[in-house]
Amino acid sequence: MVVIGPEPAERQKIGPLLNPTENTIVLVDTAQRKLFGQLADYLHHGITSPEPLGAYATVLLLTSTRSGAAPTYRINATTSVQPLALRNVAGVLPGHDPKRAKEYVVFSGHYDHLGILKPVAGDSIANGADDDASGTTAVVALAEYFKKRNDNARPLLFVAFAAEEVGGYGSKYFSKQLKPEEVTAMFNIEMIGKEAKFGPKTAFITGYDKSDFGPLLQANLKDTAFKFEPDPYPEQNLFYRSDNATLAKLGVPAHTISTDQIPTDKLYHSVDDEASSLNVKNMTDVISAIAQSATGIVAGRQTPTRVAPEPAGR
Ligand SMILES: [Zn+2]
Repeated sequence: MVVIGPEPAERQKIGPLLNPTENTIVLVDTAQRKLFGQLADYLHHGITSPEPLGAYATVLLLTSTRSGAAPTYRINATTSVQPLALRNVAGVLPGHDPKRAKEYVVFSGHYDHLGILKPVAGDSIANGADDDASGTTAVVALAEYFKKRNDNARPLLFVAFAAEEVGGYGSKYFSKQLKPEEVTAMFNIEMIGKEAKFGPKTAFITGYDKSDFGPLLQANLKDTAFKFEPDPYPEQNLFYRSDNATLAKLGVPAHTISTDQIPTDKLYHSVDDEASSLNVKNMTDVISAIAQSATGIVAGRQTPTRVAPEPAGR
């Protein structure tokens, strides 16, 4: 049994209880009513873990924890564990230059989303059209484009990741199958279905200053009006929040390209992230710009500088 008393510091006790290794009863003081509500909401959806979970229950009781208050409870709890096999979808275009066979260039987006949410106006399906069917569309379009060109010196890897929204498990697994030193660059594409803060024909690159990936891309766009900008929302920590993070932490110039105005995007993670809300012209412009801006890296003429690896544990 664990007691979470009325003091704010008591909340720290909750972390380990969310991945229980034994059956636990948690008495939550009535002063922590808000925390209790948040936990109830969170646990209602179940816990997702890449490792097999033990079949243990954490039972939360909102009650007085004052000494002397000694109510009696009868508790019935059940836990069910459901293994889920999830799959990334990947394709390779082998490179034409055998000397560059270990210089992979990755184009990626995630194909999962949130599933079913609380209904809003009778709609409970979180479509994820922008997040991230738009990026997955880009990956498929780029694969078709480079296959047709059939002149890539470096090998190209096109990947649609699973399980981004529940913790980036798809990209974490995928990234561990690669040797980071054999990955020249990663173009991760996340939410390009609406116009960026900088206006039409722009997109931003997360972690812009961490390598020269951005300027290299821009150098291939001299005859266009398209502009790649640095991430305007550094406080959102997007560089470490998306599917590029695992490889970036290992030193790969792995960046996310996006146009989402995330601080004001009312459709973000809502049931209204629908295909009808997408600006297809914006998507087409961004995908074309990625195709053209990637030509130097794809052809082996450009090689972005490495990202400084993050200390472990971040
Ligand atoms: Zn996303």
